[in-house]
Amino acid sequence: MTELVESKLCRKCKTLKSLLDFGIDRKSKDGHKTRCRQCVAGENRLYKLNNRNVVNAAKNRYRQRHTAEMADYMRLYRARVRGSQLADRHRQHLEFHKEVNIQLQFRLGAIMASQLLQNDKTIEIEKLLLKYLKSPESASGRKALNEARGIAFRAKISYEAFNTLLNTLNRSRI
Ligand SMILES: [Zn+2]
Repeated sequence: MTELVESKLCRKCKTLKSLLDFGIDRKSKDGHKTRCRQCVAGENRLYKLNNRNVVNAAKNRYRQRHTAEMADYMRLYRARVRGSQLADRHRQHLEFHKEVNIQLQFRLGAIMASQLLQNDKTIEIEKLLLKYLKSPESASGRKALNEARGIAFRAKISYEAFNTLLNTLNRSRI
């Protein structure tokens, strides 16, 4: 009968045992430890008994290291949560201001429109601005623009309203 499993002599208890009774050791020639599992377990038990302080110290070190790691992890985690909360609040803040700005623009637009509509100088200014827009590079064009600015200033038309009128005329021309 052929043996399916090799046997090996334990260096410690000098017993011939199945290779399966020996732990794995990749560095050794046959890939197994020189001492059987039973002997290794006994040695470990004995080592722990004789070196209780060393073993406990190692355990404590492990625990401490992991406590520190855990604390670091929690710190990072909290920082990330805080960061995303701040980012959220900033986003809400921006959205709120966008809304306010749009409302403000509408109101400004309404004020400008009423300024221009109620002012009897608006038509005069418009005529000058159209003259300027026809030939903005020419001396007469620039003169028309300056004249329009002067009238608007005296008629208490705001700078914004004046520019809006100019832009509107420029856009409607094209
Ligand atoms: Zn043994």
